Amino acid sequence: MLSVIPNPPRVALPIVGGDDLFPVRRVYCVGRNYAAHAREMGKDPDREPPFFFMKPADALQPCGAEPTAHPYPPQSENYHFEIEMVAALGRGGHDIPVGTALEHVYGYAIGLDMTRRDLQDEAKRLARPWDLAKAADRSGPIGPIHPAGRIGHPARGPIVLCVDGAERQRGDLAEMIWSIPEQIAYLSAYFELQPGDLIFTGTPSGVGPVRRGERMVAAIEGLGAIALDVV
Ligand code: MN
Repeated sequence: MLSVIPNPPRVALPIVGGDDLFPVRRVYCVGRNYAAHAREMGKDPDREPPFFFMKPADALQPCGAEPTAHPYPPQSENYHFEIEMVAALGRGGHDIPVGTALEHVYGYAIGLDMTRRDLQDEAKRLARPWDLAKAADRSGPIGPIHPAGRIGHPARGPIVLCVDGAERQRGDLAEMIWSIPEQIAYLSAYFELQPGDLIFTGTPSGVGPVRRGERMVAAIEGLGAIALDVV
């Protein structure tokens, strides 16, 4: 049988150190997972269970250390950066125990959870979904995957975002409220996770707006850096 339209392409991320690719299925994102960021968003980090939203997989924008053009999205006057470490699952499952959750991670990447903050603020005020804020086209810039088999499972180390050379976000992976194994275990109670799923694991404090003409450089210790020129 023939498809009546061209088959939509599936995003596949390059893997560091070779020509292999990591095809992406779903993109899960955890909210407010660093205490200082929860506070800057007006929330108490101590009393909240984790919560998740999703981005469409085709909203990912593969990028690398050489700057990639990142179009400012329509319908926003307050477009924010959120640097996050991304866990890429190589194995699926449901009701995954915390103690074995890391066995499901193939590798890690640097990601940006780009957010139309004005639309998110409106959605929060009106108790509406976040999709218009979080799922814009190209709202998920992401670097290549570093296999855990090569770098291990990063649990601490600096996570930093600079705009035009000025540091705007800095945290440490050890500051996550819900660890990556806990995120996997929690999510897998609600969804059957599959190989190819990504988890954006939350952003440290310092989120803020970016404007056309500015360069974002996002770095995580052990994962290198990605660069984007907002156009
Ligand atoms: Mn985020």
